[in-house]
Amino acid sequence: MSRPPSDTQPPLDPATLLVTGGRDTAAQKGFVNPPVVHGSTVLYPSAEDLLAHRGEYHYGRHGSPTTRALTQALQELEGSNCAGVALAPSGVSAISAALLAVLKAGDHLLVSDSIYRPTRSMCDDLLLGLGIETTYFDPLIGAGITSLFRDNTRAVFLEAPGSQSLDMSDIPAIAAVARARGIWIINDNTWATPLLFRSLDKGVDLSVQSATKYIGGHSDIMLGTVAANGRAWPKLAAAIRLLGLCAGPDDVFLALRGLRTLAVRLARHQAAGIEMANWLAARPEVLRVLHPALPGDPGHAIWKRDFSGACGLFSVILRPAPQAAVNAFLNSLRLFGMGFSWGGFESLVIPFDCASYRTATVWQPGGPGLRFHIGLENLDDLKADLAQGFEVLAKAR
Ligand SMILES: *Cc1c(COP(=O)(O)O)cnc(C)c1O
Repeated sequence: MSRPPSDTQPPLDPATLLVTGGRDTAAQKGFVNPPVVHGSTVLYPSAEDLLAHRGEYHYGRHGSPTTRALTQALQELEGSNCAGVALAPSGVSAISAALLAVLKAGDHLLVSDSIYRPTRSMCDDLLLGLGIETTYFDPLIGAGITSLFRDNTRAVFLEAPGSQSLDMSDIPAIAAVARARGIWIINDNTWATPLLFRSLDKGVDLSVQSATKYIGGHSDIMLGTVAANGRAWPKLAAAIRLLGLCAGPDDVFLALRGLRTLAVRLARHQAAGIEMANWLAARPEVLRVLHPALPGDPGHAIWKRDFSGACGLFSVILRPAPQAAVNAFLNSLRLFGMGFSWGGFESLVIPFDCASYRTATVWQPGGPGLRFHIGLENLDDLKADLAQGFEVLAKAR
């Protein structure tokens, strides 16, 4: 904001920080929002200034008033343990920056078995080729992860709840034992966002977001962010610089615009997601629902202890049905689009099966898996759409 923070003022609630964070109205001649700065070259007023690298901005790749507004807002949201936030052109590139910031040839990496699949591919292909070995672990391992530590274990990569299966990990327990060994802890916090889970306050060193999802919130950008604590920030800043990562100003501006309404959107996605999850759980076609905010879920106790809310993404296991019948159900839906990504205003569904690629756990859910994202549509409309879909499923069985 335009006025400097004062020690005598009470700390602000995260919902307020979403609105006030990163704003410098004086620098913007009074305008509420920053300009979208398209720029590479930054001119210096004199040779002396150039030689001394004097000035606030130096080159487009290293930041602009647009990127600074977003990184400052995110840093305030991440809390006092955050030393800096870096931007990358996608969530996956943010993940690569976090990993390459702390790993080198000969290192060993521990990764949760329910990790986002492209993260897994990065470990099995890019990192392996660089001489970094990955071991996958059961997301429910907790402090038992110590049995997997080797002398050369340098980092643990977490994601909770995990992709597709939504299993919860005890992040504080894992972080505590890893930290005691000087091992870096990276968390993919895309599901919760820093609004619902403050990774850096729970022992995480590097917290990754695909801002493509809820921060953007409108299915119209690609962007990744990494927040670092004081120990990790120098390593992260170096990796971002050495890899040459930066994000386009239009996407950065749209992420900042999305961030301002994150609290109201997430509250609505949470309520709608829980209502639809309960509705689906009561359907005869559904074997079980995977959603950590439901009291019967195996991850519920950990979610309740560590998270302040849920988003609109969860999964469902249907009772056994032929693929053709599941396809007929999916094809009949009018309001649930089929496509990758999530976190926008619209409802989505995709079929999934983790059996072929999980290696530390066995995926035998007892029926076909569907992952739902509940958008901002009217819930009666969504239920009616699914109800007619289940009739189509029954006929196609
Ligand atoms: C989508 C997603 C990513 C990747 O983000 P992109 O912006 O699509 O590159 C990473 N992690 C999780 C958990 C995701 O859902």
